[in-house]
Amino acid sequence: MAQTSCLVCCPLVANSVEETVIQMQQAKADGADIIELRLDHLHNFNPNTQLQIILNQRPLPIIVTYRPKWEGGEYEGEEATRLDTLRLALELGADYVDVELQVAPTFIKSISEKKSRNSKIIVSSHNYQSTPSLKELGQLVTRIQDTGADIVKIATTATNITDVNQIFQVQKGLHAQSEMTVPIIALAMSSRGLISRILCPKFGGYLTFGSIGIGKESASGQPTLTDLLKIYKIKSLSRDTKIFGIIGNPVGHSKGPILHNQAFREIGFDGIYVPFLVDDLAQFLTVYSTPDFAGFSVTIPHKEAALQCCDEVEPVAQSIGAVNTIVRRHSDGKLIGYNTDYMGAISAVEDGLKGRLSSGDWENISPLSGRLFVVVGAGGAGKALAYGAKEKGARVAIANRNYERAKTLASLVGGEAIPLEKLDSFCPENGMILANTTSVGMHPNVNETPISKEALKSYDLVFDAVYTPKVTRLLREAEETGATVVSGLEMFIRQAMGQFELFTGCPAPAKLMREIAVRNA
Ligand code: NAP
Repeated sequence: MAQTSCLVCCPLVANSVEETVIQMQQAKADGADIIELRLDHLHNFNPNTQLQIILNQRPLPIIVTYRPKWEGGEYEGEEATRLDTLRLALELGADYVDVELQVAPTFIKSISEKKSRNSKIIVSSHNYQSTPSLKELGQLVTRIQDTGADIVKIATTATNITDVNQIFQVQKGLHAQSEMTVPIIALAMSSRGLISRILCPKFGGYLTFGSIGIGKESASGQPTLTDLLKIYKIKSLSRDTKIFGIIGNPVGHSKGPILHNQAFREIGFDGIYVPFLVDDLAQFLTVYSTPDFAGFSVTIPHKEAALQCCDEVEPVAQSIGAVNTIVRRHSDGKLIGYNTDYMGAISAVEDGLKGRLSSGDWENISPLSGRLFVVVGAGGAGKALAYGAKEKGARVAIANRNYERAKTLASLVGGEAIPLEKLDSFCPENGMILANTTSVGMHPNVNETPISKEALKSYDLVFDAVYTPKVTRLLREAEETGATVVSGLEMFIRQAMGQFELFTGCPAPAKLMREIAVRNA
């Protein structure tokens, strides 16, 4: 598919000319198409001598911006000096000059002779509180266009990820009565607006901003240049690229984008996988209901709500009461819910057991069949493991801090409930299987463990859903007592592979996904 022409601009907020010059080279090396020079961040800036120095050394086209305090920038000096500096930038041949809507009409009138044919004026408007309705944004774009702008820029603030949909409509030009003739930069600031910046090329935006590094952003919610180009590969997005992503809150820590984007590329699938920071799942799915939004991973705290939001849910996910994967069915657009956590965890435990047992006909029967399977925890992961073990013919026992929850889950899977404090003395037989599905032992509480080392002697296999750290205290002690251990990272990899297959309909590139997950663990 034809790739779009969206440019990637690296804004520089350095405090000195020397640093700016170094960062301009770095931006070029990192793959930027354009640099934005934020003059308002320079300390003791002398336009008459220093502007020429910077412009002479630019390795890429440059946008000169001198943002005043009243528009969210750093400049607090005389307005006349600021506008004189922008005029000087045009005289010196700056490729683009950014000027705020409030002063644009008079500024543009004043430059008719100073502007070379190659220089372009970006007229910008920033809203640091909210994102107006599409109708209001349309009126704003018209006002900006009427100033004689070469490029329209609007930056709003997303207070909810659904606000970004208005920005996508503007990027596509759908706010206008007739076809847009002027290119548009439209972005939503804040962490909830991130997808407006990543998906910009798909929806037709003129450019998107990527910072030179973490902590060097010129606006809230800005990703790094490296993330845009290396993780999301936004240069290869086309209008047809299918959008996938992880819905959660928080979601910034997710390794899903690193894993799925590389896996999509490995098999040549035209998809992108992004983080969706979602407050209200039902509202999110209603707003992003087009075929472009093709599938979602779902994580805390939305896995249970996802069950209600799907049009159809596969039976195991229904029994577990949690959906971690949603796919939009191609034929009718309906949302189908799955639970790959269960498949990921149980298949990892089964393979661990098969490795321990010297032989057996595991074609027709699971190695879990008939085993006593002790699940610690009764939350989302606990339910997935308990149902999965039961499906495979195991006898299930549930130990949980909240004993009532243990009893409820135990009765649902026809098992036994154990108060957590009795777990150490629970030993009806040897050769049991233990699955920790609580967050006990998770970073930073790495010295915690849900069961004593002594009690682990009754278990053949110990699984820990926690995967930060990869080897928990529980797994270390289990290995020391001779049990087979299975890491939560294995569950993570397998549930992701299950999602990948549901998203693409193709086998997951297992070796690559395992390598990436281990490297980024
Ligand atoms: P959840 O639904 O919130 O359930 C949390 C469970 O942990 C509950 O049973 C809770 O007991 C128990 N718990 C929490 N703190 C505890 C403590 N200090 N002492 C004893 N029990 C405690 O969470 P979840 O989604 O099931 O996730 C649980 C863990 O599994 C997390 O560490 C998560 O990262 C991990 N996980 C891993 C994967 C993977 O792919 N490897 C996938 C999903 C989840 P109460 O009922 O008494 O509150």
